[in-house]
Amino acid sequence: MRCDCGREAVIFRRFEGRALCRQHFIESVDRRIKKLIRKEKMIDDGDRIAVGLSGGKDSSLALYLLNNLSKESKSFKVFAILVDEGVKGYRDKTIKHAKNFCKDIGVKLHIVRFKDEYGKTLDQIVKKSKGNLKACTYCGVFRRDLLNKTARKLKATKLVIAHNLDDEVQSIMANYVRGDLLRAARVGAKAYVVKDARFIPRIKPLREIPEKETALYVLLKKFDTGFEECPYAMESFRWDIRDTVNDLENKFPGTKYSILRTFDRILPVLQKEFLNKKIGKCSKCGEPTSGEICKVCTLLKTVK
Ligand code: SF4
Repeated sequence: MRCDCGREAVIFRRFEGRALCRQHFIESVDRRIKKLIRKEKMIDDGDRIAVGLSGGKDSSLALYLLNNLSKESKSFKVFAILVDEGVKGYRDKTIKHAKNFCKDIGVKLHIVRFKDEYGKTLDQIVKKSKGNLKACTYCGVFRRDLLNKTARKLKATKLVIAHNLDDEVQSIMANYVRGDLLRAARVGAKAYVVKDARFIPRIKPLREIPEKETALYVLLKKFDTGFEECPYAMESFRWDIRDTVNDLENKFPGTKYSILRTFDRILPVLQKEFLNKKIGKCSKCGEPTSGEICKVCTLLKTVK
């Protein structure tokens, strides 16, 4: 298989019926990410951009590209935050990749831990929960909270969430299945519904890049990054959704883009509905919440 330029192809994009060589593939990924950043006006002059780094392929790619853009434009700064949930045999490996990668590209890395913030690692939380709730339920809420708090403490003006196309589509489908419109309204290129100084606006520059392509990009560029899978991932609801969406994509190439584009058309209606909801203060920890007690405090109570 050959690229239009005549060189050997590294990928065949079934959804557009096009083969690309290494150089044209990398250029195309870079171009699409930059285009989305511009189109969605994700970055402003003077921004301090925190990238949520896991040591995996997606966040390493996001950090790499934003760091290059920051060096080119000199109008904003970039640093990385890694949340160590405390998953033995998994997070310890990805932390090593993250440290090496940040050193390689000269980016400051801040590491924060569930254990320090909530008094327990995720493994300990799961043990205490005795199967009442899934690991991802705790992890998702705590990780979002800790990333936001840390970004705020470090005076970040934007927080990068390195969701790729597959992640976005899984979130969209999961919210449809659950009927959770409030959460659905948060699935956008700028993933915030409520404008509140306590929430650092989240941006998702990779949301139009398929997972296969983020993986290929980091392999071709030989980034020090891991392909380890969290041991709790398979028990998550998203795992089933992922299989279903992948089956559909195999049968009907372009399904993922079609789901994303259709959702983006209805997103403004959802945001209008939820954008102006008042956000109060948790009576226990003082963090923003729409109820009396925030989700973090509610979940922490179940594993005391
Ligand atoms: Fe957390 Fe679940 Fe992701 Fe593992 S798979 S890192 S438990 S959200």
